[in-house]
Amino acid sequence: MSELKYDVRSEHAEEFIHDGEIRATLEYAQSACNDKALVEEILAKAELGKGISHREAAVLIEVKDKEIEERIYTIARRLKEKIYGNRIVMFAPLYLSNHCVNGCVYCPYHAKNKTIPRRKLTQEEIRREVIALQDMGHKRLALETGEHPKLSPIEYVLESIDTIYSIHHKNGAIRRVNVNIAATTVENYTRLKDAGIGTYILFEETYDKAAYERLHPTGPKSDWAYHTEAMDRAMLGGIDDVGVGALFGLSNYRYDVVGILMHAEHLEARFGVGPHTISVPRIRPADDIDPRDFPDAVTDEVFRRIVAVLRIAAPYTGMIVSTRESKACRELVLDVGVSQLSGGSKTSVGGYAEGIVDAEDSAQFDISDNRTLDEIVGWLLELGYIPSFCTACYREGRTGDRFMSLAKRGLIGNCCAPNALMTLAEYLEDYASPRVKIEGAKMIDRLTQIIPSEKVRRITMENLAAIAEGKRDFRF
Ligand code: SF4
Ligand code: SF4
Repeated sequence: MSELKYDVRSEHAEEFIHDGEIRATLEYAQSACNDKALVEEILAKAELGKGISHREAAVLIEVKDKEIEERIYTIARRLKEKIYGNRIVMFAPLYLSNHCVNGCVYCPYHAKNKTIPRRKLTQEEIRREVIALQDMGHKRLALETGEHPKLSPIEYVLESIDTIYSIHHKNGAIRRVNVNIAATTVENYTRLKDAGIGTYILFEETYDKAAYERLHPTGPKSDWAYHTEAMDRAMLGGIDDVGVGALFGLSNYRYDVVGILMHAEHLEARFGVGPHTISVPRIRPADDIDPRDFPDAVTDEVFRRIVAVLRIAAPYTGMIVSTRESKACRELVLDVGVSQLSGGSKTSVGGYAEGIVDAEDSAQFDISDNRTLDEIVGWLLELGYIPSFCTACYREGRTGDRFMSLAKRGLIGNCCAPNALMTLAEYLEDYASPRVKIEGAKMIDRLTQIIPSEKVRRITMENLAAIAEGKRDFRF
């Protein structure tokens, strides 16, 4: 047992992601999962939609009973619908540079990989990439870049964000730029905040310090505590929407589920607001990376349970699944709580615009879902979800605790649904294939009629009429 004390409010990573507490939790869950009365108690608490603790979540991860498993899925599904409705927010990653000084053993961008072509986009190339993304219909991006203090310093990232927001091509515009860059200083987080970013995203990869240090042998990222305390610095720098996540398959998934939730509990306890999103990537093949080297890979079945339990434990948090996952697997996890999807993604530097790269030879990982954005929009419609290009909250100042307070009172869905319908209408007008246009219009007609508030319904209808006449960018 570690001598450090577990302290949810501590500013020290080893105290809020306390190894002893995680191991004790996993041990407790092994026996507690057989205690029927306790499991019933946890399920009853889960039904209330106010979240469950990391210890309770660990028990639900362990439960073997099939009937209980189905109830976990049902609760997760209901909670997602109750808080966010049936909208699924769409986004795409944009890779700026794959130069990297780190040695992460699971990523082909690691510094020692000499076979992968290294690229860094110029501002003109970023402009071309963004136009290509706008022409697909995207409004929300996640910026990705390797860590390289000389080749991609913070000034390069800030300049790139300015470039992205400045581009208006036809009816296109990127309205929210989320940023996934290496852990940095409070001062740099303030600069990102001032540049108008949406969410700052940083995956922990694995919360298990010993495993983390093995997987990150060299480079600044090898400092587990500095990496783990990044969200605290982001919050101190003024960013109140942060996105956490673990790369499942790197280490023991049970440890990482508990770690994610302890991280969320810590942010809530110290700053009064938990993470805005949780991402659940799984390890994928890539240049120089063979997933068989990672024996902790999780099956689809386990993955589904992880998503459902995270949804139950942190009901107000957006949950993100990328194109790392196949169509079939995405369908499985959409059903139990995922609320954001990437679509039409390229994971290489310069992969969207014609003529920047010859082939996807610089991809960070292989994509399982290769469908176009239009195909994904059509598929979501078929499944009964509203594909949403909404970016309203951050633009309306609904971030951090303001957002959480609405979500916790069950009010955010009143904004999500009409915003989803209006941004879908924009997509249908500007980018959709004829088939998707027909299906989308049917959904908009049907769901607009049942918007509960008479006032919101009327304004939505007026805005939909204005969109049909060529006006853009309405939001609640
Ligand atoms: Fe670099 Fe990030 Fe890849 Fe690590 S995961 S090698 S930090 S790009
Ligand atoms: Fe997301 Fe807010 Fe839009 Fe809902 S209204 S989809 S929470 S940005």
